[in-house]
Amino acid sequence: MDTHVGLSPQYKNTPEYARYLDEQDPLQSFREKFYIPIMHGREAIYFTGNSLGLQPRSTQDYVLNELEDWANYGVEGHLHARNPWLSYHELFPSLLKDIVGAKEHEVVVMNQLTVNLHLLLTSFYRPNKQRFKIICEAKAFPSDQYALDSQAALHGFDPAEAIIEVGPSPGRQDIDHEDIINAIQSHANELSLVMFSGVNYYTGQVFDMASICKAAHEAGALCGFDLAHAAGNVELQLHDWDVDFACWCSYKYLNSGPGGVAGAYIHERHAANTQLPRMAGWWGHDKEERFKMDRHFKAIPTAEGWQLSNAPILSMAAHKASLDIFAEAGMDRILHKGKQLNAYLQYILDDINAHQSEKVIDIITPRAEGMRGCQVSMLMLKDGKEIFQELGKKSVIADWREPNVIRVAPVPLYNRFEDVYRFGEILADML
Ligand SMILES: *Cc1c(COP(=O)(O)O)cnc(C)c1O
Repeated sequence: MDTHVGLSPQYKNTPEYARYLDEQDPLQSFREKFYIPIMHGREAIYFTGNSLGLQPRSTQDYVLNELEDWANYGVEGHLHARNPWLSYHELFPSLLKDIVGAKEHEVVVMNQLTVNLHLLLTSFYRPNKQRFKIICEAKAFPSDQYALDSQAALHGFDPAEAIIEVGPSPGRQDIDHEDIINAIQSHANELSLVMFSGVNYYTGQVFDMASICKAAHEAGALCGFDLAHAAGNVELQLHDWDVDFACWCSYKYLNSGPGGVAGAYIHERHAANTQLPRMAGWWGHDKEERFKMDRHFKAIPTAEGWQLSNAPILSMAAHKASLDIFAEAGMDRILHKGKQLNAYLQYILDDINAHQSEKVIDIITPRAEGMRGCQVSMLMLKDGKEIFQELGKKSVIADWREPNVIRVAPVPLYNRFEDVYRFGEILADML
């Protein structure tokens, strides 16, 4: 496959050229598998797949099937539903393994993201007096900050002392990779855990997960990632990178519906260790013996051993509908198109800036390939709020982050190159 998708000299800021790119796109027909919101009487330019992915047209059928089976079978659906509920969660590892780069027994679908983060921190943040520090990114998503602070406090540590945040250097928005590695090395003696996002939600920066993980291990610490903005967006090789644990949600790039069921990854060397401390529940108990209702917990020796409750089937049905589309499209093609869309967007924004007397849009997402996924964060240097509101009136659904950032994320499964062109046209007209 041609993987060169850097800025192409042939790019043109014209509708004909955008349509030409769409015609070349092997995933072009996948757009028809989704409901595109209608705004002001026409299809929206939906650029918030990083926040809530669109609904596949097949989702209703998948959910309806389970409602029908519940109506027809009642409790017997656990065994006799078309996809028996007892083992429904077992449908997911084969669908997720290519998305996160893991072995099947390292992946489990359960709960929601922040819940999973806490469950994993319970097992993998095991501080002692000597090693108690956590290194993470500054301005992480608030839920992650709260989770880390509260975990440190639960173990009797002052978060202000235990949590080391690595931030951008002055005047920058993205975080220098060297600064992350230096922080890990300089705190090596006291370090318990390195916990980063895969993709920062605000800047769209993709972190070098492989080398962060390597540095963490060299410092004698464990390493985990929150992949909320990474799963389904950028290449992940969790197993090969030797990542200890990770979690993600399913409603952003994975299109599985608001508040949908989430996922977790636990490296096999930990997953197989049934003695690892954890919050235990009956769904994580040895399957052969689960219904003996025995007094003592016996963990399943895979990622499933972290499950607590029986599976939320309706939410899982929506997740399955979407992951079946991912399987049909293939992660290689999805990642490739994501990069192409992003490169074209970058070109269009540069072209707009070049035609202004002064720079109005500062792209704070790193430019280097490999450091960006679908999302581009635009720091608006003037009239940001007004421009954002005007975009809404022109049927563009983007996302505003205080103080001055518009985030846009054209995604491979349902956005077109023409959407990128039209977005640029609308933006240029306004300026
Ligand atoms: C979206 C997001 C969350 C949201 O957490 P939920 O538990 O799903 O509500 C948490 N962390 C990060 C990094 C996110 O991007």
